[in-house]
Amino acid sequence: MVSNKGITLFLLIFCMFASLPLPALGQPAPQADPIASLVVRLDLEKYKATIKALTRFGDRRQGTARNRAAIDWIEAQLKSYGCTNTERVRYQFGVEGVHQVAPGAANGSSAPHLNAGGARARGYSRPTGVNTDPNAQPDAKLRALDSPPAIPGLREEVYCTKIGTTHPNEMYLVTAHMDGIGFGEAANDNGSGTALVMEVARVMSSPDVQTDRSIRFILWNNEETGLNGAAAYVAQRQALQGKEMPPGSGRYPEPKWLGMIQHDMMLFDHGMPRADGSLSPHQRPEADVNIEFQVNAKFAVQSQALAWALESANEQYATDYPATIGSHMTNTDSHEFQDIVASISVRENERGAQIGNGWDPQWHQPTDLYATYDDNDFRLGLNAAQTTLAAVARLSGVMMKN
Ligand SMILES: [Zn+2]
Repeated sequence: MVSNKGITLFLLIFCMFASLPLPALGQPAPQADPIASLVVRLDLEKYKATIKALTRFGDRRQGTARNRAAIDWIEAQLKSYGCTNTERVRYQFGVEGVHQVAPGAANGSSAPHLNAGGARARGYSRPTGVNTDPNAQPDAKLRALDSPPAIPGLREEVYCTKIGTTHPNEMYLVTAHMDGIGFGEAANDNGSGTALVMEVARVMSSPDVQTDRSIRFILWNNEETGLNGAAAYVAQRQALQGKEMPPGSGRYPEPKWLGMIQHDMMLFDHGMPRADGSLSPHQRPEADVNIEFQVNAKFAVQSQALAWALESANEQYATDYPATIGSHMTNTDSHEFQDIVASISVRENERGAQIGNGWDPQWHQPTDLYATYDDNDFRLGLNAAQTTLAAVARLSGVMMKN
């Protein structure tokens, strides 16, 4: 048996040789970095399994039974993760408009060409568009699943909230749209973003995780028809922000919005189309997570600061792929928030300059299938999840409960 004195002497000598800081005897060990311990709870196989499960509902097009079944499944999953206070926004939606996509840059033109969001297009481009032909889906089973059309009427979208312990009246919004289009499985657009939000909700809802501020996880509907689900949320809930209801209850049905982080298409960064319009079959080694804010928005300055908070979290915690910031956020649900609160979108590529130029050949096509992607693609989505989880954990003041 060694005496306490002996252990102290040993530690002193050991620390001198190992150049370690001396432990303060009698003090509890400092808590390990809680953010690092949360990020490791994200897992590639779990992320893939959630995307795969979402593709069971085909393209999840708004206004269909497959869309409603997907919402029910997402809600059940959120509850099973411990995010039990699920609620739904309800709104009416009519007839879907004709889908239009801005053309990419004219190849060979020397004049500057601006794509959606004001992003300057460069280099080679290929055509983009929305497939509206069910027969373009060669898989008969999937074609049958995706064929029933959207019916005008009631729409729903689901959310759940992690309630902050010291500032329950303030929150960050972590969001993605769950509806899809194009007669495929909408695996990348936007099973990948939906699964990311669900995975972050799962980790943050563990019973040993506590945050000062609230975090709401929202899965929008009707993004593909013109951001109508996000617009309905803003219309119904913006004025409720920060109000205690009923007074004295300590309950805040709509905590004040501190920032909005949208996730839309997380997997595919195979680079620019080649001169003949073909694309590399492989994720490019220098693939990155694109974080965009809109420079012309009222909250551009605040949104830029939020973007840098994610970039910094990526630098510290994302395992494989870096993050890049761009100033032309566009064409996703965060647009509805950009003049109200700090708002950013997280993607595989820049929406305007790159996806608008045809960098993602699966976009709104029958080929947007789970089987189209490999682990290098899925890992880009996982790195985006690590980025958002780490940033939101830090911003909301996370602590691990003992
Ligand atoms: Zn999308």
